Amino acid sequence: MKVYNTMSKGKEEFVPLEEGKVKMYVCGPTVYNLIHIGNARPMIVFDTVRRYFEYKGYEVNFVSNFTDVDDKIIKKALEEGVSSEEISKRYIAECKKDMEAMHIKPATKHPLATEEIGGMIELIRTLIEKGYAYEKNGTVYYRTRKFQDYGKLSHKNLDDLRSGNRSLLVTGEEEKEDPLDFVLWKPKKEGEPAWASPWGEGRPGWHIECSEMSKKYLGEQIDIHAGGEDLIFPHHENEIAQSEAANGKEFAKYWLHNGFLNIDNRKMSKSLGNFFTVREIGEKYDLQVLRFFMLSAHYRSPLNFSADLMEAAKNGLERILTAVEHLKFLQESASIEEIQAPENEALEKIQSYVTDFEKAMEDDFNTADAIAAVFELVKYANTTADGTSSKAYLEALLEKIVCLTDVLGLVVEKKEELLDTEIEALIQERQRARKEKNFARADEIREELLELGIVLKDTREGVQWKRA
Ligand code: AMP
Ligand code: ZN
Repeated sequence: MKVYNTMSKGKEEFVPLEEGKVKMYVCGPTVYNLIHIGNARPMIVFDTVRRYFEYKGYEVNFVSNFTDVDDKIIKKALEEGVSSEEISKRYIAECKKDMEAMHIKPATKHPLATEEIGGMIELIRTLIEKGYAYEKNGTVYYRTRKFQDYGKLSHKNLDDLRSGNRSLLVTGEEEKEDPLDFVLWKPKKEGEPAWASPWGEGRPGWHIECSEMSKKYLGEQIDIHAGGEDLIFPHHENEIAQSEAANGKEFAKYWLHNGFLNIDNRKMSKSLGNFFTVREIGEKYDLQVLRFFMLSAHYRSPLNFSADLMEAAKNGLERILTAVEHLKFLQESASIEEIQAPENEALEKIQSYVTDFEKAMEDDFNTADAIAAVFELVKYANTTADGTSSKAYLEALLEKIVCLTDVLGLVVEKKEELLDTEIEALIQERQRARKEKNFARADEIREELLELGIVLKDTREGVQWKRA
């Protein structure tokens, strides 16, 4: 399998640190608002990367953090007159809902920066002991020039950075030994969340969070570190400087970065105000259409968001869903059970589309070509499956389409839907259970219905229900 490594600027053969296992860290969002679809791009593409490794039989330890202490969170908390914690908890919950709707698997671990402060303090202490960091008036800085390899990921030259940085000096930073030094710990300001540390009360810098959380949950060396390309510099460069100086070993073997989701060829971002939230898109489309749209481009290419492309994605996905529905219909009415002689040849053809799919994914996760292979398979299903097909042949087609689309995180089999009359019957059963004070059964029915997307509301006029 070939993966593009930002570090070497080329495609490399993927060789895991430990056979059969992948340790992967993806920088997560800062939680102060609903996420926009630009933030959703790394979530979708790296979830797909994870799914492909799992398809190949790897055990993937996937860690993705929530940055829940940050200037933007504090600002929002002040605006609303609530605590920073209330803001971050609220938007973590909202983000998880969006992730679920986009079929993003929960990470093996979603650490919160605020729950890992002790480890960050230890890491900073190690950096000071090794001479890579120093304290000035309650702030701890990283001594950038001491790290020989600084700039190796972003391919930047220290002296160019220095001349660029001079004009960017912010007040209060004159105390730094060098303009290139960055903050590991900052002192408390009035009204801000703070933790006790050997350098006084304060909070960690952003970069140290990921170095610590990656180390704690995945170890000192990991296979893949990923995020959007805006994170290459300074965030990932600084993470490397911190982790490698502290641990004395290579931090991550492969650095993967997704391209930007643009609008009118400009990066979608909160600060430019040119964004759509995932929630807004979800009002118009099933969110797997958004997922399909994102995967129709290579993850490293810029991708322009447009209504036309979303419609094209919707139609493309519909083609697959319709084919699956038709195959299921044929399967129910098929009279022949076993594979027929000519169908054996067709099975080989099906396998060739699977091979095309895998080849595309093995080439740095080329999901655009992988989707093309799925379309070919669907076209083949549409032309070869009919009323004379055996159940076994139809099953083979269905199984492959479902398996490949699952790697892309698409659910193509329509979920079982309850008829209105079935819902009413369950509601009546629940009412009976409540009358008999069998609340366990009543709750169970509510849960069952909820899983099928039916929400109950108890009112004075009786129970009302709606499809969520
Ligand atoms: P943030 O909350 O800004 O730290 O971003 C969370 C993740 O979303 C990071 O990996 C960013 O690189 C990524 N990201 C933000 N905006 C975009 C965009 N327009 N296109 C692609 N990725 C983005
Ligand atoms: Zn990070």
